[in-house]
Amino acid sequence: QAKTLGRNTLCFFDPAMQATVNANAALGADMRIALKEKQFVVYYQPQVDRQGVITGVEALVRWQHPQRGLITPIHFIPVAEDNGMILPLGQWVLETACEQLAAWADWPQTTNLSIAVNVSVHQFRHPDFVDMVMAAIGRTGIKPQRLKLELTESLLADRMEITIEKMGMLKDLGVTLSLDDFGVGYSSLSVLKRLPLDQLKIDKGFVADVLTDPNDAAISRAIITLAQSLSLQVVAEGVETHEQREFLAYQGCDQFQGHLFSPPLPIATLDAFLRNPSSGMMVVTE
Ligand code: C2E
Ligand code: MG
Ligand code: MG
Ligand code: MG
Repeated sequence: QAKTLGRNTLCFFDPAMQATVNANAALGADMRIALKEKQFVVYYQPQVDRQGVITGVEALVRWQHPQRGLITPIHFIPVAEDNGMILPLGQWVLETACEQLAAWADWPQTTNLSIAVNVSVHQFRHPDFVDMVMAAIGRTGIKPQRLKLELTESLLADRMEITIEKMGMLKDLGVTLSLDDFGVGYSSLSVLKRLPLDQLKIDKGFVADVLTDPNDAAISRAIITLAQSLSLQVVAEGVETHEQREFLAYQGCDQFQGHLFSPPLPIATLDAFLRNPSSGMMVVTE
């Protein structure tokens, strides 16, 4: 910041900002060790269809830090993006998800569930990304359609041709492609139409105020209509109330994810639920 303001600008020392910088540096240094010592954990948040039936889960990484306790991704994913650790970390999440899909394959109640994995721009841009996805699928023997990759609109900011080509290669592997946090970025209709996507996810920022803010309601409705006209599935994230779910379902939303149904869960908790769904966690409202 100081640099961009130029030489003659006074720059005040901000202790709070410095504390953040220090904390991030410390986290960044811990990260390499954390990966080796298996301190990262994948939680899984269910996604349900219009009938309330679970169709899949999203893999959401957490860090079980020996001193700081469980750290959520907003605190370390941006740090990992900056220091390059997002590559090995993202790869580890991808492989963990594929192994989980393989473990579910021989279980009738889970054999068709999907796992969605968040892919950072750095990861996607890596020249070996497609090969690494292919290797993970091959090694675990999973059906590729059950692996869903969640990409973000920031991918579309530049290098569009390469991005579309790479998405096409991923589609050729058979994986499912989703565009996460949709509506926050700037993808134009003409761009969207060219992408080999299967799904759009409505950002939880719109879902949060869908009943109280007419703009958010209009945007959610527009995203659903857009998805339908492009034959894409549409998933709403951050659904917390029956009323939000009902509004979105009325507009034609196919799937829902949020605290109304379940928070992200450790695998043992999720497995226990999947074995015995009558333990009653999913909300069925139709
Ligand atoms: P995201 O991919 O948009 O994931 C959805 C986020 O919304 C998750 O936050 C989830 O816990 C939260 N959420 C779900 N339902 C509700 C709800 O009803 N209310 C509210 N308030 N929140 C809800 P989380 O787990 O903290 O993850 C934050 C972000 O970190 C993710 O946003 C994703 O961008 C990133 N992330 C998480 N895991 C990974 C990963 O393995 N790799 C990469 N590259 N990014 C990841
Ligand atoms: Mg996501
Ligand atoms: Mg999202
Ligand atoms: Mg989001």
